[in-house]
Amino acid sequence: MPPTETLSPQWINSALSRTSFAWLALGFLLLLSLGAWQYSAHEIARNNEERFQYRAQKQTEVLVGRMHDYERVLRGSAGLFAASETVSRQEWRAYVTQLQLGQSLPGILGTGFAMMLPKSALSAHEAAIRAEGFPDYRVHPAGERELFSSIIYLEPVSGRNLLAFGYDMYAEPVRREAMDRARDSGEPALSGRVQLIQENGRDVQPGFLIYLPVYRNGRPQDSVEQRRLALVGFVYSPFRAFDLMRSIFGTGGGDLEVEVYDDKVQPENLLYASERGARQARHQIDLQPVIAGHRWTVRFRSSAQFEADTGSPLPMMILLGGLAFGGFLFSVLYLNARHRQGMEAAAAELARRRDEYLTLVENVPGTVFRSGLEAPWHVQHISRGIEVLTGEPPARFLSGELSLGGLIVAEDRAEVAAAVAAAIAGRRSYDIAYRINSPAGGVQWVSERGRAWYDEAGKAQWLDGVIVDITEQKSAEEHLRAASLYARSLIEASLDPLLAIGADGTIMDANSASGRVVGVPRETLIGSEFRRYFTAPASAAGFYRQVFELGYVIDYPLAIRQSSGEQIDILFSAIIFRDESGEVAGAVAAGRDVTRLRRAQLELEETNREIRALRQMTDLLQAAPSLEEAYTVIRNSMDTLFPHSAGACFMREDDSEQLRRTVFWGEAQPPSISIDVGDCWALRTARTYAAPAGPSLVPRCPHSGDESTACLCIPLHLHEQSLGVIYLGASAAESSGLHHERRLRLANMAADSISLALANLRLRDSLRAQSLSDPLTGLFNRRFMEETQARELSRLSRISRPMAVAMVDVDRFKDFNDAFGHEAGDLVLQKIAGVMLAFRRGMDVACRYGGEEFVLILPEISVDAARERFEEFRRAIAALALEFEGQALPGITVSIGVAFFPQQGTSSAELIRAADRALYAAKHAGRNRVVLADEAQATPVAGT
Ligand code: GH3
Ligand code: MG
Ligand code: MG
Repeated sequence: MPPTETLSPQWINSALSRTSFAWLALGFLLLLSLGAWQYSAHEIARNNEERFQYRAQKQTEVLVGRMHDYERVLRGSAGLFAASETVSRQEWRAYVTQLQLGQSLPGILGTGFAMMLPKSALSAHEAAIRAEGFPDYRVHPAGERELFSSIIYLEPVSGRNLLAFGYDMYAEPVRREAMDRARDSGEPALSGRVQLIQENGRDVQPGFLIYLPVYRNGRPQDSVEQRRLALVGFVYSPFRAFDLMRSIFGTGGGDLEVEVYDDKVQPENLLYASERGARQARHQIDLQPVIAGHRWTVRFRSSAQFEADTGSPLPMMILLGGLAFGGFLFSVLYLNARHRQGMEAAAAELARRRDEYLTLVENVPGTVFRSGLEAPWHVQHISRGIEVLTGEPPARFLSGELSLGGLIVAEDRAEVAAAVAAAIAGRRSYDIAYRINSPAGGVQWVSERGRAWYDEAGKAQWLDGVIVDITEQKSAEEHLRAASLYARSLIEASLDPLLAIGADGTIMDANSASGRVVGVPRETLIGSEFRRYFTAPASAAGFYRQVFELGYVIDYPLAIRQSSGEQIDILFSAIIFRDESGEVAGAVAAGRDVTRLRRAQLELEETNREIRALRQMTDLLQAAPSLEEAYTVIRNSMDTLFPHSAGACFMREDDSEQLRRTVFWGEAQPPSISIDVGDCWALRTARTYAAPAGPSLVPRCPHSGDESTACLCIPLHLHEQSLGVIYLGASAAESSGLHHERRLRLANMAADSISLALANLRLRDSLRAQSLSDPLTGLFNRRFMEETQARELSRLSRISRPMAVAMVDVDRFKDFNDAFGHEAGDLVLQKIAGVMLAFRRGMDVACRYGGEEFVLILPEISVDAARERFEEFRRAIAALALEFEGQALPGITVSIGVAFFPQQGTSSAELIRAADRALYAAKHAGRNRVVLADEAQATPVAGT
C-alpha cells in the first residue's frame, strides 16, 4: 500500500472506526510501557551497581591502607633493631609507647618482639630472662623442638598481653607459616586466621598477626639462605579481627555490609562480619586484596539503607503511567470506534429504510404523489407510476410543466376540486373516482385517495395521495352488469321452474316459469315458503334440507295441485351456491314438469306387462305337450291379459260347421258352449269383428250376450285354414277410444299366438301318430320299439325285473309272394299284425321290425311263461285261415327267436341281436318253431 494511501484521511477514518485499531494501540502502548519500564529499571540498577562497587572499592582501599600503616609500624620497630646491637626491654617500651598506636591505629593489640632460639640456647635464655626479674618465665608451650621462638617483648605489657610472654609462636603451624614466609622474603607477612594467645575467654574473636623478620646486623641478607642464617627474631603485631575491622568499617548502618574471610569464603575462614546474619542483598561483590603476602576475601553487600537510598520508583511510575495512558487511549479509541460503528450502522439503516420506503412507494400499484393543496395540484414528489398511467415521465411533473389537475377531463375537474377542498377543510381523507385523458386517446378511469398534511398550527401544508387506474375495474363492472342481465334473461327463457332457495326454505328468487307452474305471480313466490306449494309439504321441506346437507340433489319428485285440480308432477334438481367468502348462500333448484312423461311411463309399464304376459303365454303354449294343457295356458293368460273381460275359445273339429267351446275365462260364463260358423261375423268374414256395447247399428254375434257388453271376435286360422274363433266381451269404458285400440291390438296378437300354438299342436299329434306306427299293419314301427325298449330296460333294471324280446319271421315268405303276389303278401302281414295285437297284454309291445319281421316285447315275464306264450302265438299264426280276392290261400308259419333281459344283454341292440341269433337257429332247425337264445347257444345246428 503506498504511504499516501496509508495515511490518507479516509484510511485514518476507517482505522478509527475499527475496534481492532484500539486493541492494536493498546497492545503497542503496553509493549512500549513494558520496554520503558525494563529499560529504566535496568539503567538504575546498573548505576546503583556502579555506585555500590565504587563504595566497596573505596572501603577495600581503606582496609588495605590501614594494613600498610601497620606494616609501616612494624618496619619502624624492625628499624630499631637494625640501629643497635641489642634492644633492651626499656628501649622497646619507650619506642612503642611513643608510637601511640592505641590512638593512631586502633585495632592493634600491641607490638612485640619474638626471639628465635635454637634448642641448645633455650635454658640459658630462660635463665637470662628470669634473671631480669621474671622468676616465672619460661618458654611455652613446653616440648622437645629443634627451634623455639619466644615472645620476649610485647607492649603494652598489660592485660591480655601478659599471657603472651614467653609464648613459642613458632610451635603453632599457622603462625610458623607466616614467620617462615617473612624470614625467607624479608617482607612483612600476614598470618592466617588464628586464635590469639591473648584471648582470655571473654569476647573471643578470630585474630591474625603480621610478622617482620629481624636479621643480625651486618650479615648478608641477599638470598633466602643468607636470610635464614641471619635471622634473629620477628617484630610482630597481633590483631583481634573484629575490633580492627570495626574500627575500619564502622559499626554498621552504612551503605554496605561487609564480611572478611581469610582466603576463601568459608564459614571457618570468617574474620569479620558487619551484620549478624547474612541477608539477600540486591548488590554483592567479593574483592580479594593481598595484604602482607596473604590474600583475604572481602564480601560487600548492599545494605538495606543503600537499597532504600538507591531504590527508584521511576520504572514503576513509567510502567504504571504507560499502562494508565494505554488504558486511557484504548478506552478513547475503543469508544470512538464503537461510536463510529454505531453511527455508520445508523446511517446504513437510515439509507436502507429510505431505499425500502422508495421501493415501497414505487411498488405501490398506481401513482404515489405529494402535491400542493390547490388545483391544479403541482407535484413536489411523484412516483414512476405516473409514467405508466399517463405516458409522461415524472420529471415533467416535478418541473411544474405538467400538473395532476391538467390530466383530469374538463367535466370532472370541478367535482374533484370540490371533493379535495372539502376533505382538507374537514381534516379527513378523500376517495374519488374520475376520468383522465388517456395517452392512447380517449379517457380512462382512475381512483384517487389522499389526505392533507397539517403543521403543528393545524394549517394544511400539502396533499399526499395515491392514484390508481380503475379502467379495468369499471369495465369489469360493466361486464358484470351485462352478464347479470344475460343470466336473468337465460333464467327467464327457461320454460321450467328455476328457483333460488335460502337455507330456511324461503324462496329468494324465481323465474316466471315457476309462477306459471305453481299458478301464482312470480312476485308472490319470492319471499314465501317453498314447501307450501306442494301436495306434500313435508317432502318439499325434506328436499331442500337434503340439498343443504349433501350439497346437491337430483330428480327429487314433488307434485303441485293446481287450482284447476290438475296434479303436476315435477322432478326437482338442486345444487347449493356459495358467496365470496365460501359460505353457503343458498340453493338453485330447477324443476322439470314430468306429468306427461309420467303418464307415458305408466302406459309403457302397462304395455310391457302385457307384452311379458303375451310372451309368457306364447312360450307356455309352445311347450304345452297336449291341447288340453294348451287350453289351460290360454285360460290363465287371457285372464291376465284382459282382467276385466270374459271370453272363450271355440274350435272347429275336422271340417265340421259347428265349433265347440274348448276353454273360457272371466267371471261370467259366456252363453254358448258351441256356435255355428254362419252365426259369427268373424268366421263368416274371416276377419276380426267388433261390435260396441249398447244400442248400435252394427250387428252383434248371437254368442256375445246382451248389449251391455261390447263384442270382439277374432278368427283363429293358419295358412287359410280356419281353426276357430276367440270371443272377448268388455264393458263400454274399456271398449272405447284408446283402450279399445290397445285392446284390439293385444287381442289380435294373442289370437295370432294362440292360432299358431293350436295349429302346431294339432299338426304335432297327427305327425306323431304317423311317425310311430307302421302304415301297413298299424303296429308300432321299429323306431318306436327301440324308444320303448330303452325306456323299459331302464325301468326294469331299476326294479330288477326280466323281459323277453322275440324276433318273429314269416317262413318262406318270398315264395308266398312269388306264388300269390305282393298284395296277398301284404294281406298276410296285416293278418299277422291282427293276431299280434290280440296276443298283446298289458305293457306288451308288438311292432313291425321291417319287411316280414316282427318284434314282440314282453316285460316282467319268466322264461317258461315266455316260451309258453310264444308257442301259443306261433300256433295261432299257423292256425290262420287266409283268403285273398275270394281265393283261399295256404296257411303260413312263423319262426320265433327269443332273448331275455338280463341274461342275453342289457341294451336293446344286444337283446335284438341275441333274439335274431335264436331266430336264425329256429330257421335252421326247420322253421315254424320257437327257439330261446340260451337253447340256441347250447345246441348249435349242424350244417349251418
Ligand atoms: P325264410 O323262411 O328263410 O324266411 O324264407 P323267406 O322266403 O321268407 O326268405 P326271406 O326272408 O329272404 O324273404 C323275405 C321275403 O319277404 C322277400 C319279400 O318278397 C317278402 N316281403 C318282404 N316285405 C314284404 C312286404 O311288405 N309285402 C310282401 N307282399 N312281401 C314282402
Ligand atoms: Mg325274413
Ligand atoms: Mg321269411
